[in-house]
Amino acid sequence: EEKLDLISKCIRTFPDFPTKGIPFKDIFPILKDPKALTAVMDLFEEHVRNSYPQLDLIVGLDARGFLFGPLLAQRLGVGFAPIRKKGKLPGPTLSVAYSLEYAQAEAEMQEDAVSEGQKILIIDDLLATGGTLCAACELIRQQKAEVLGCLVLVELKDLHGSDKLKPTPVFSLIQY
Ligand code: 5GP
Repeated sequence: EEKLDLISKCIRTFPDFPTKGIPFKDIFPILKDPKALTAVMDLFEEHVRNSYPQLDLIVGLDARGFLFGPLLAQRLGVGFAPIRKKGKLPGPTLSVAYSLEYAQAEAEMQEDAVSEGQKILIIDDLLATGGTLCAACELIRQQKAEVLGCLVLVELKDLHGSDKLKPTPVFSLIQY
């Protein structure tokens, strides 16, 4: 499809970033091209409107989930809440430790960010091993809210992140 073509042309790979052996997908050129960014938002919006009419809230992951999450939430007329790396959010928080493709990390969310029973979609730029999105799902379930699914621009298929997230569905625009 034309929109997917526009998006994939804006994703470039940097070998050995941030450490040796990691082929890093850089998604920032999408933000430099308004047509590509519009294509991303159109495809996400269409998918969510068709699949999740009951959606209450979008939760975005630190940091590139913050670029796309609020734009999508505004299009859909729902709110947005952040999950951040440890120590960045004020007030009472919940946290979950997890391991990344190339680091250890802890994800945090403000205790009042989501309410019991809310139906939530989580958004990030890229799915690799799935560790980050799994931690996000756990944080949301700790607050007795429901994770409807995860949205990512890019999915690295070889790392089988979507298997790790099962039975939570993952929707990705571009796959490698
Ligand atoms: P995972 O937890 O699935 O192994 O890693 C996904 C997280 O790491 C996401 O928050 C994502 O932003 C970041 N990440 C890992 N590899 C890449 C990459 O190649 N490109 C980008 N843009 N982000 C990555």
